[in-house]
Amino acid sequence: MERSAREVLKEVFGYEEFRPLQEAVIEAALAGRDALAVMPTGGGKSLCYQVPALALGRLVLVVSPLIALMRDQVAFLRGLGVEARVLNSTLSPPEWRENAEATRRGEVRLLYLAPESLATGRARELLAALEGERRPALLAVDEAHCISEWGHDFRPEYRMLGSLRQALPGLPCLALTATATERVRSDIRSELRLGSLGTPALELVASFDRPNILLEARKRSAVLDQLAELAAAYPEGSGIAYCFSRARAEEIAAGLSARGIPALPYHAGLPDEERSRNQDAFIADEIRVIAATTAFGMGIDKPDVRWVAHADLPKSLEQYYQEVGRAGRDGLPARALLLYGYGDAIKIRALLAKSREEARLARAEAEAFEEGPDEEAELEEAAAQLPAEAQLRSMLRYAEATSCRRSLLLAHFGEAYGKPGCGSCDVCLGTAAGAATEDITLQAHKFLSCVKRTGERFGAGHVADVLVGSRAERVLGLGHAELSTYGIGKEWTKAQWMDLARQLTLAGFLGRDEDYGVLSLTEKAYAAFKSKEPILGSVPPRGRGGSGKASAPPSQALLPGAEGLEAELRSLRRRLAKEGGVPPYMIFSDRTLADLVARRPADEAGLLEVFGLGAVKGSRFGAEILAVLAAARG
Ligand code: ADP
Ligand code: ZN
Repeated sequence: MERSAREVLKEVFGYEEFRPLQEAVIEAALAGRDALAVMPTGGGKSLCYQVPALALGRLVLVVSPLIALMRDQVAFLRGLGVEARVLNSTLSPPEWRENAEATRRGEVRLLYLAPESLATGRARELLAALEGERRPALLAVDEAHCISEWGHDFRPEYRMLGSLRQALPGLPCLALTATATERVRSDIRSELRLGSLGTPALELVASFDRPNILLEARKRSAVLDQLAELAAAYPEGSGIAYCFSRARAEEIAAGLSARGIPALPYHAGLPDEERSRNQDAFIADEIRVIAATTAFGMGIDKPDVRWVAHADLPKSLEQYYQEVGRAGRDGLPARALLLYGYGDAIKIRALLAKSREEARLARAEAEAFEEGPDEEAELEEAAAQLPAEAQLRSMLRYAEATSCRRSLLLAHFGEAYGKPGCGSCDVCLGTAAGAATEDITLQAHKFLSCVKRTGERFGAGHVADVLVGSRAERVLGLGHAELSTYGIGKEWTKAQWMDLARQLTLAGFLGRDEDYGVLSLTEKAYAAFKSKEPILGSVPPRGRGGSGKASAPPSQALLPGAEGLEAELRSLRRRLAKEGGVPPYMIFSDRTLADLVARRPADEAGLLEVFGLGAVKGSRFGAEILAVLAAARG
């Protein structure tokens, strides 16, 4: 039975609209035309081959390099009532037989295959023996850049796919990737023989812009404070903190946990078992933050990561943007915060210089033995070193940008942004640390005096309490209500004073003890009192703590009184996920959750109007969701 692509989108996936390019790619697949689609991570590549399988009611082969990803997608599809199966090396012989049988019977819509499994005779025989309507309708090659040595993730097994196409003549091929350099694209075209069916292949490159991600960069100061502040912007949301070293990952995981933000580390120094346990805990929402070295993230599919922070400068913008791409894949507001110190670049440069110096010494030695300079090695070295330095420089330019970060980033990937500013980076919003343009002298003096009056023995929170004239027990108990600075700062909220404290620390007026957060005055502070020169900064916005004129996190977009209901729905989701043995986002996404709270449907028909709830999910979880909503109505 054929259905239109739109019907499938709505009925099975519960989405109203295709994302840019999805529709064109799906049309090509339905028309039996080869296509190459380049879309950023999170752009919605998988729908491009899932929808055709269901619209045509036929088998689609999906080649994917990552076993974990195949497993997740199969679980996700089965959750939607779609017959999806996998053939790879992790299956036991009976499992393999069962999946092969189902394919032979023509029941399977999406068959996920590891490239190495396609090399084996039995997979090829199985596919070649399918006839008529049971024959595959499309070969989808996910992460198609793996076929190219010029990509960052070459997999020789992918080279087998060319011969697979010859073995299955007439089968159209859809190649999907997030890596777009022309060199890689041309490798994909030729290795996969795109366009060999007669019509030229369709080629589509999506914009790399991820407009829902707020881009920010700041000097690193008290890194735990900075991360805790980011986490606080999304009280229930998950985040990834990328770190340069294992030690840093450990320290951040422990530090955040100690502050009541459950976090675990993920790095190569952990035993495999512990590492995958930590990853699972993150995906299952048992912890909120994973502090990881760059190894983390490849092949995890968690669409509701609300923030990605880099505790250290990454080596290149390519690496940076790929990691940033793991935030907000569900399209909801998310934040990417880069924390950097000058030391980072020096550290990276030292590594580069060291290998340069080693190469130079080796050459000098070779010359001493009269072998003459090795031209080839020299060229190789130039190729290896110069890009590294250039990459590091573009990374630094991004970190210290004084114009729109988004246009800078997109320009780096060869895309013109076309607008003067994006309105969702810290530079455009005027919240960049560099954007210290407002006169905050008066408040700065009040704060610094209050630090002094309280004896330079307290953290920002206590000093702020004294300034706003708090009746907190601690303030009264210490006799701080008697101080001349008590209550002189009522024009600002406590959160604003805390924000100011961060600015003053960053600007070097305050010293801050890493362990307890105790503030003390620096030379620069005394000089400022004497000179009476204006102190520039940014007036912290009212009503929200931290630096955020940032876009509102999803929970703040909810209706008043919604928190209780949201928590109820979250716990229902956790329970259903546990029962089903799947991650919570597969039950329903954050966006669905927000939509449920906003619409509060009373019956099944209303439920189907909710974002992300198709017929299958509606009938599977509908009753329990409606029960929670009914209870909330009282
Ligand atoms: P990619 O493979 O390109 O990284 P995915 O296919 O995993 O991205 O899609 C990312 C997220 O976007 C998933 O949660 C998916 O369900 C969602 N998504 C994809 N297409 C749409 C759409 N048209 N409307 C709403 N959500 C979508
Ligand atoms: Zn901008």
